[in-house]
Amino acid sequence: MDKKNKEVRVRFAPSPTGYLHIGSARTAFFNWLYAKKKAGQFILRIEDTDIARHQEETIDIILNSLKWLGLDWNEGPESGGGYGPYRQSLRLEIYKKYADKLIEEKKAYRCFCSPESLKAERENKKDREVGPGDGKAFKYDRRCFKLSQKSIEANIESGKPFAIRFMVPENEVINFRDTVYGNITINASNIEDFIIIRTNGLPTYNYSVVVDDALMKITHVIRGEDHLSNTPKQILIYRALGFDIPDFTHLPMILGQDGQKLSKRHGSISIEKYIEDGFLKEAILNYLALLGWAYDEKTTTFSIDELIEKFELDSINKKPAKFDYDKLLWVNGYYIRNMENSVLEKLLETQIKKYLASREMSDPESSPGNLQQKIARITPLVKERIKTLKESINLVSPFFIETVYSDQSKNYFKNKNIDALKILNSIYSALDEVDDRFPAKETEGNLRLVAKNLNLNLRKVAEVTRIAIWNSPVSPPLFETMEILGKELTLRRIKDYIKIIS
Ligand SMILES: [Zn+2]
Repeated sequence: MDKKNKEVRVRFAPSPTGYLHIGSARTAFFNWLYAKKKAGQFILRIEDTDIARHQEETIDIILNSLKWLGLDWNEGPESGGGYGPYRQSLRLEIYKKYADKLIEEKKAYRCFCSPESLKAERENKKDREVGPGDGKAFKYDRRCFKLSQKSIEANIESGKPFAIRFMVPENEVINFRDTVYGNITINASNIEDFIIIRTNGLPTYNYSVVVDDALMKITHVIRGEDHLSNTPKQILIYRALGFDIPDFTHLPMILGQDGQKLSKRHGSISIEKYIEDGFLKEAILNYLALLGWAYDEKTTTFSIDELIEKFELDSINKKPAKFDYDKLLWVNGYYIRNMENSVLEKLLETQIKKYLASREMSDPESSPGNLQQKIARITPLVKERIKTLKESINLVSPFFIETVYSDQSKNYFKNKNIDALKILNSIYSALDEVDDRFPAKETEGNLRLVAKNLNLNLRKVAEVTRIAIWNSPVSPPLFETMEILGKELTLRRIKDYIKIIS
């Protein structure tokens, strides 16, 4: 079939060696976006044959992060009503079958050399290079390919362990075009006969990836730039097995603002941590799209649908992308501000319930139904003031838990040349006169009078009130806050605070 009319099939192939890193999440997202754009298939494959680095429990973390981001995959072994990912560890027979085929066709051979002896030779060679050497790096000399059929059979018979090496063709030129990095040409004579199946029977990365991509009919390989140097070896395997070679797109590296490799000191780097910190999936995806891709020079916010429409592999930049935590935070705040109140209410409700549960506190002021109603009233007050859902805790929790005044609050008016006690007594009386519904307009009016009578500006009066009722100089808009707290609780807190500073 004409390549242009072929169904687009892409894949994301993480190794379960840790959480889902920001960079891997971007790779997954670009694959997913491209599949959506082309009405193709997005395949998930767990590359779990590196037994030294394998951590089984991280598979669930990776799958959960992908699901949370909404990056659903299209196929795989059926499991629990959905698809499980493909797992390389369950495909060992397949890799063996194709390796046997390569041996039969003299495109691969068994190598009985012990890894230790080869390592020693390699090191010995390196030592010599420091002094006068021949200037060439150690290259395996293909000695096992030259073994007679008889000694091969004798070795197998005696149970001598062997790896399988790929026979790199002499003087073959490898040409390929990468969407981002352009045309790349490499002479195969620089590549040594590399191992495709280790002595323990497990395939090496470059080999299993080719067998899987080919059998899974992957049309576009979209992956991190760190795999660019693996591509020539993989192309040799495609050719040897007579497989179609997919299109390659290598995504630029992601660096920290300082140009160094991205690490924890540049901000959280796992999706799991971002979920915990109250980021929105829309914001994360939007920001990931900007790491190496741009639509134009000014647009920074895109809905998922807009991304599906505008995303092109051709417009990926090869310059390393710089991860900017503050910008991600800004994007998250943007999505919170622009969210429907009803949607945000649900998210804030989940946050506060989790928080109350973690402190083993149910809402002491009201029943759960009441919590929901209160959150609905609080949401518009905090919406513009938070950049993450987690930040909402400071602004929302004082509505629901008893105030335990901090030392900072207790000493707030010391050395401040303010007669806080006198002001608070006036505030108490003025608020006590407001009717039980405690409307913001009336409490504001009465506190204005207090300010006037005491010859203070309203800001000072509000500051004193805030410390007393909120245990902090920062709160949502004061009068609306008091209205939601209600008259009884507001007055009780003022009384408590008066006691403390008396
Ligand atoms: Zn050998």
